[in-house]
Amino acid sequence: MSLFQEIELPTGHKYQQPLGLFINNEWVATNTTLETINPATEQVITKVYAAGEKEVDAAVAAARGVYHSWLQVPGEERALKMLKLADILEQNAELVAAVEALDSGKPLHSNARADIDGVVEYLRYCAGWADKIHGKTIPLSNNRLAITRRYPLVVGQIVPWNYPLSMSGWKFCPALACGCPLVIKSSELTPLSLLLFAQYVKEAGFPAGVFNVVSGLGSVAGQRLAEHPDLDKVAFTGSTATGAKVMQSAAANLKNVSLECGGKSPLVVFDDADLEQAAKWASFGVMYNSGQNCTANSRVLVQDTVYERFLELFKKQILEDWKVGDPFDENATLGPVISKTQYDKIQRYIESGKREGARLVLGNEPTGQSTGYFIPPTVFADCNQNMTIVKEEIFGPVVAVAKFSSEEEAVKNANDTIYGLAAMVFSKDFHRAHRVAEQLEAGSVYINSSNDESCRVPFGGFKMSGIGRELGESGIDLYTQSKSIYLNIGNKL
Ligand code: NAD
Repeated sequence: MSLFQEIELPTGHKYQQPLGLFINNEWVATNTTLETINPATEQVITKVYAAGEKEVDAAVAAARGVYHSWLQVPGEERALKMLKLADILEQNAELVAAVEALDSGKPLHSNARADIDGVVEYLRYCAGWADKIHGKTIPLSNNRLAITRRYPLVVGQIVPWNYPLSMSGWKFCPALACGCPLVIKSSELTPLSLLLFAQYVKEAGFPAGVFNVVSGLGSVAGQRLAEHPDLDKVAFTGSTATGAKVMQSAAANLKNVSLECGGKSPLVVFDDADLEQAAKWASFGVMYNSGQNCTANSRVLVQDTVYERFLELFKKQILEDWKVGDPFDENATLGPVISKTQYDKIQRYIESGKREGARLVLGNEPTGQSTGYFIPPTVFADCNQNMTIVKEEIFGPVVAVAKFSSEEEAVKNANDTIYGLAAMVFSKDFHRAHRVAEQLEAGSVYINSSNDESCRVPFGGFKMSGIGRELGESGIDLYTQSKSIYLNIGNKL
């Protein structure tokens, strides 16, 4: 198998897809391959080379090898390279978005393009930090002074399939800004966009070894990265179960660990809320990206006095917003879920909702698609805290709606979960909205909105949703370690 393959996109455009691992700015073949499947057609798109332990070791050696020389490059120079990279990605955004749509099934026009624009924006935001990573001066008694310096780390990064390049960007943008050489592993289900992006990194002038990409299985390449003795840090986004394994593997050499894991975010609607607005945001927040969103508001808690009215509005809004269709269809807003495994898992959750007594308000509609892992928007009402669809992350276009009667009950039920990634509150009473926001156990709380992140604001989870905060200044903090230097200016022993 060669290192590149010409692929014709459903838009009619042809491009050269890199297939190898990207190590030391070179494409590398291995003796194993992985098939990647178009979730809308169930057809194999292509095969990519997969990393075994040996190749992960080579990628880590490349990153470790460039550490000291990359450290000498001033922040302003890293910033210029990052800005150039952002420009190159922007110029190629149509192509990369189409590749993302093909590989992940997300609708090109309503989702995939926004993902790529987000990476361009975050590259520029982090470029702004690259020459502002300062330490502190700490005055001490007796003519002494301490200064702190911040040093980059050699990092391994492991990302999921739901936002392939976007989630990678959340990791590589701050790492590049801080001067960290990195090895990043894509999900085995969506390897294509990150490989394409690696070409642009080289074109932007980053030295060999700074940015390395390994495609591969989690149990092989991911595991090796997590346990690797020569990495200082592992940053992971994915399920909570895998996050726990990564943390265990990382303990082998006491690696710095940051984890962005699963969620089961509650959206609370009080009776004084603008119900139409609440229905709009709730629809967006749970169905976008076919519900494959760690912050999806997959639980909606509604005050009893407005419960039926909200349900009506919510159902109407979902029917208006979401058109199931091929990711390349201009009208499609809801693509397939990622794989047969996810499709089957979501169907089992839908069956459990019915079996455990939830009322199916929406779902079961024909999708009109003859192939692909399409699931229509599914709404369950009359849910309770014991139901599986209320407790577990479904990661599909499925939402569980439940009733509450008091503010205390709303907060108690919203917090009754192992997760704590996001929560949403709808009320026109700002005092109440803020009071409830203060009590919700979540890394991000949205008042009168849902899922409108900005790369300028810290993001991460309470409880089993993760450790550490990506984005904003916190994202920069994740990728350096500090050294304290004591200066004795006059104190004689
Ligand atoms: P996953 O845990 O199955 O896989 C994530 C990554 O980990 C993949 O690259 C996989 O190859 C790798 N991996 C698997 N086993 C490994 C191991 N033993 N050691 C090291 N790496 C291993 O998750 P997924 O199915 O790809 O993604 C969906 C999950 O990601 C959901 O739970 C979702 O909530 C979560 N997610 C969280 C955030 C966030 O910011 N909190 C964002 C997106 C997705």
